[in-house]
Amino acid sequence: MHEIRIAEDLSRIVLEAASERNLRKVTGINISFGQLVQIVPEIFEFAFREIVKDSVAQDARLNIEIIQVKMKCSKCGTDFRVEDNIFKCIECGSVDLEIINGKELFIKSLEGE
Ligand SMILES: [Zn+2]
Repeated sequence: MHEIRIAEDLSRIVLEAASERNLRKVTGINISFGQLVQIVPEIFEFAFREIVKDSVAQDARLNIEIIQVKMKCSKCGTDFRVEDNIFKCIECGSVDLEIINGKELFIKSLEGE
């Protein structure tokens, strides 16, 4: 259940950003998660709501974007998108891969008034 820890971290960032910008209310939060973070959006949202209860972010809309896994083959240099969790180069079959996208975890933007 690492969603709870992530929700705690992100809610802290949201509340700090809201106070820096003197927001009375956070209306929307756009979050990006890499697929490798393996977040269950429902659990994350539930945990997040519990944490921000009675704060300026309590009514914020959460938009969660999942970034697909992209890898680069260290052998032949091909970039490719990982599908069905097959971690193997689509060109040469090598498993010597580098992660380009998929481990992200960040707040893209915040809407408020
Ligand atoms: Zn390759």
